[in-house]
Amino acid sequence: MKILTVSDQVVERVYTLSSNGHFQGVELILGCGDMPYTYLEYLVTMLNVPMFYVPGNHDPCFDLRSEQAHAEGGSNLDLKIVRHNKFLIGGFGGSIRYRPDGNNQYTQAEAYVLAFSLLPHLLLNRLQYGRALDILISHSPPFGIHDDSDPAHNGLNALNWLIRIAQPRYHFHGHTHFYKRNLANAETTIGLTKIINVYPYQIIEASH
Ligand SMILES: [Zn+2]
Repeated sequence: MKILTVSDQVVERVYTLSSNGHFQGVELILGCGDMPYTYLEYLVTMLNVPMFYVPGNHDPCFDLRSEQAHAEGGSNLDLKIVRHNKFLIGGFGGSIRYRPDGNNQYTQAEAYVLAFSLLPHLLLNRLQYGRALDILISHSPPFGIHDDSDPAHNGLNALNWLIRIAQPRYHFHGHTHFYKRNLANAETTIGLTKIINVYPYQIIEASH
């Protein structure tokens, strides 16, 4: 399944890229947060494929009743797991808490509690499909992987735990920007999981 993953930055030349056939064959869009919802809606309209997304720390708290707080044409995957095209896809929005009043921000302990809530569904998947998860999307990176030492960019330990428990084939995240274009640091494999920082976008051919 060919997936367009996006996070954190609007790619201005996306329209040109699209008309050049750059996104041809893309079957799914996955949004890893901190994108204007109007931009996600634009991508969905342009490519006419399904989209799942999680909110980032710069996004409003998800609210279907507010136009500013959800993306029309896509599904919020925060703390949810869906089965799409035979892929089990789970989502975890937000980042480490660095401001007391920030949206979608959690302490390490709060993030663990949220991650634990996915456990029953992961176990059911393992019983039903022989695996817990194929793809995990989050805004934050795991702790110590593609993260940064400043208070706003520490990764979440709960994501390391989720990866260890669920062993997805892929984990896509954003939140860490490449200030020095250090793209060598965009991909790390831990166990069975390929962890990819998709900032600002990546096209990924995902296989089972
Ligand atoms: Zn962020």
